[in-house]
Amino acid sequence: MPANKKLLFLPGDGIGPEVMRQVRRVIDWMDRKRKVTFDVTEGLVGGAAIDAHGTPLTDATLADALAVDAVMLGAVGGPKWDNPTDYMKRPEAGLLRLRKELGLFANLRPATVFDALVDASTLKPEIIKGLDIMIVRELTGGVYFGEPRGIEELPNGERRGVNTQVYTTSEIRRVASVAFELARKRSNKVHSMEKANVMESGLLWRQEVTKLHQEQYSDVTLEHMYADNGAMQLLKNPKQFDVIVTDNLFGDILSDEAAMMTGSLGMLPSASLGAADANGNRKALYEPVHGSAPDIAGKDLANPCATLLSFAMALRYSFNLDDDAKMLEKAVQNVLGGGMRTADIMAPGMARCSTTVMGDSILRELDKLSS
Ligand code: NAD
Repeated sequence: MPANKKLLFLPGDGIGPEVMRQVRRVIDWMDRKRKVTFDVTEGLVGGAAIDAHGTPLTDATLADALAVDAVMLGAVGGPKWDNPTDYMKRPEAGLLRLRKELGLFANLRPATVFDALVDASTLKPEIIKGLDIMIVRELTGGVYFGEPRGIEELPNGERRGVNTQVYTTSEIRRVASVAFELARKRSNKVHSMEKANVMESGLLWRQEVTKLHQEQYSDVTLEHMYADNGAMQLLKNPKQFDVIVTDNLFGDILSDEAAMMTGSLGMLPSASLGAADANGNRKALYEPVHGSAPDIAGKDLANPCATLLSFAMALRYSFNLDDDAKMLEKAVQNVLGGGMRTADIMAPGMARCSTTVMGDSILRELDKLSS
């Protein structure tokens, strides 16, 4: 018998536990119907962990996260824990520590437009119908972490703010290789985005991506694009892209731009991956892009699709269960196609439903697809 797949559930705060409950139901379904079994342990993160232990991530929970195949996280944060004086006691500090300790340097943000939600986008349907792109953002380097940084007083009485954009060859190569590997499983095309025209770190990025491509991935089509042009091209003709790889700062902006083209925060999944071990397995964290939505928490109103689609990414990237991932994505797509909508994606003529009923419908659809 192969060892069970080990998952750590960190539901977190606000709507986190509500949307993660729907993932539990899918796991129970897979256990019954697909004979795929997961060992699921559960822990606290964010505000929930602060309330219980006085810290947003205990060492014990971190050790659990390091021991499993994948971590599924709901969301963290809320007004109760907004603590401007002690940064380490903020819920977000738990998530950042988790990302850092797991070494999650590649952030995968798909932007997929489901046919049923084409009208939710602010772009014309012909521009975005069928859109399916993947942005790979470098997550642990670049200007958000570079030294020197800070705000200093100048002799003339002015103040100066400094951040440093810095990348090493290995940081560039490891994230680019994630992008090339992904492209091979998709449409085999990578666009690398930087500002090689005005930044040395961008020039190095372009040189290293080109070199890696020649050495190991010449079967993949590679194009380079300046990030500002990339931002324009994403709006003008997004379907020209398959996989985009870019640094932390540009990735932050471009992935939000691409995400919003799809229309709803409640539909957006993400994955963050670390380095591959000797068996090719990577540390991984899967989470919806949205936050803890305190305004609707506890009301059974949240859209669970982003979290379910994040679990589909876990099935694909951590557990090699591509068929199951596709089935879950198809189930979400079909339920939307049938007119079910949580409040955030409600449209005229559609059937408004709760978190639980959306979960029920997706489970029914999974039954149909697997029979
Ligand atoms: P948010 O994403 O929580 O909510 C923004 C808006 O989108 C709200 O109106 C909310 O009701 C709605 N929304 C979000 N997810 C939804 C879903 N699944 N279904 C239906 N509607 C949904 O962002 P915010 O309001 O800026 O932040 C709230 C809290 O979440 C803050 O404490 C913030 O720090 C935290 N946050 C956490 C994460 C994370 O855990 N990764 C990310 C972003 C924000």
